[in-house]
Amino acid sequence: MTDCIFCKIIEGKLPAKKIYEDDQAVAFWDANPASPIHILIVPRVHIPTLNDIPDGDTLLCHMGEVAKRIAQDLGVAESGYRFFINVNKGGGQVVFHLHAHLISGNDLGTFFIKVAIIGATLWRKLLSILGADGTRRKN
Ligand code: AMP
Ligand code: ZN
Repeated sequence: MTDCIFCKIIEGKLPAKKIYEDDQAVAFWDANPASPIHILIVPRVHIPTLNDIPDGDTLLCHMGEVAKRIAQDLGVAESGYRFFINVNKGGGQVVFHLHAHLISGNDLGTFFIKVAIIGATLWRKLLSILGADGTRRKN
């Protein structure tokens, strides 16, 4: 596939921070990481989506084994990580060359969102106790 970014990375025509490769798959760091550890595991063969893998194909198994190995090497196998595949536009897939994400580490984005929600809830509670939001009425 001439227009495929991941094919170009696999062929060495585009740069990527590779962390692992074998005869079936290549793994490299995501260019826009969602977490401190964000690796993409990409089969060498151009398969657009998970839907295009024939039944009985062992490729997915291999991708899982690669993820396991990388997680071990990066020291997150025990602490934990996420391993997932986005499928088609509705599933969040942007690059149409099959790939799995391996994500781990502090998710600061989620952390700050949670802090903001808790903060807003406490603030509203405080306003309600003080009667500043008009919800506290005298009997
Ligand atoms: P998906 O949404 O599952 O298709 O994921 C595509 C991923 O590829 C995104 O997380 C992008 O940040 C990542 N990506 C796109 N272009 C590159 C690139 N040239 N090198 C590394 N990662 C990339
Ligand atoms: Zn491709």
